[in-house]
Amino acid sequence: MDISSTPIAKISADGSIEVLEHIRFVCTSCAECCKLNNIPITEEDIEKIVERGIEVDQFIEELSPVLIASKSLENGLIKAYFLRKKPFVNECVFVDELNLCKIHEFKPSACQLYPFSIRKEDEGYVAIVHPDCVCDCIELGISEEKSQTVEIVENLLSTLTIN
Ligand code: SF4
Ligand code: SF4
Repeated sequence: MDISSTPIAKISADGSIEVLEHIRFVCTSCAECCKLNNIPITEEDIEKIVERGIEVDQFIEELSPVLIASKSLENGLIKAYFLRKKPFVNECVFVDELNLCKIHEFKPSACQLYPFSIRKEDEGYVAIVHPDCVCDCIELGISEEKSQTVEIVENLLSTLTIN
C-alpha cells in the first residue's frame, strides 16, 4: 500500500499537535532512501558541510539549482541543488560501507526530516508521510499506547523553522 502523503497530525499556530494517525517508525538504516531518491540540499546545508572541510564538487551533482519548499515554510520556495551519487552506483556519496551516513551529525535538512514532511494548509500545518516515501518501516494504525506520532512530529518541529 502506498502511504505517501498520508496526514499524521495537525499542528496549530501555537505548536500544539492533534494526532490524525497513530504510527510507529523505527529506521533500520537500510539506506534505501539514500539510494532511490534524488536528495535536495540547500545553500545552508552546503555551508555546514563545507565548514567541515569537504569540497563542494565532491558532493554536489551539478551547480544548477532547483526550487524547493523552504525550511521556513512561510518563505515559500528556495534554491537547492542535488547530492552527488557515486559513479556506477545509484546511491548518495555519503553512504559508507555499513550503509550508514558519513555526515550524520550535519546531514542536509531533507535527510533529517525524511521519511516525513510538513505541509502548509489554510489553518496551520499538517505533518505527513513524505510524498516520495520509499521507506517500508512506517506502520500505520498502531494503538494509542504504542503510538510514536507525537514524538515524531516534535522531532520534525525541532528541525524545521516555522514562523
Ligand atoms: S528512513 Fe526508511 S528507507 Fe531510509 S534508511 Fe531508514 S528505514 Fe531505510
Ligand atoms: S547525506 Fe546521509 S542521510 Fe542524506 S542521502 Fe546521503 S547518506 Fe543518506
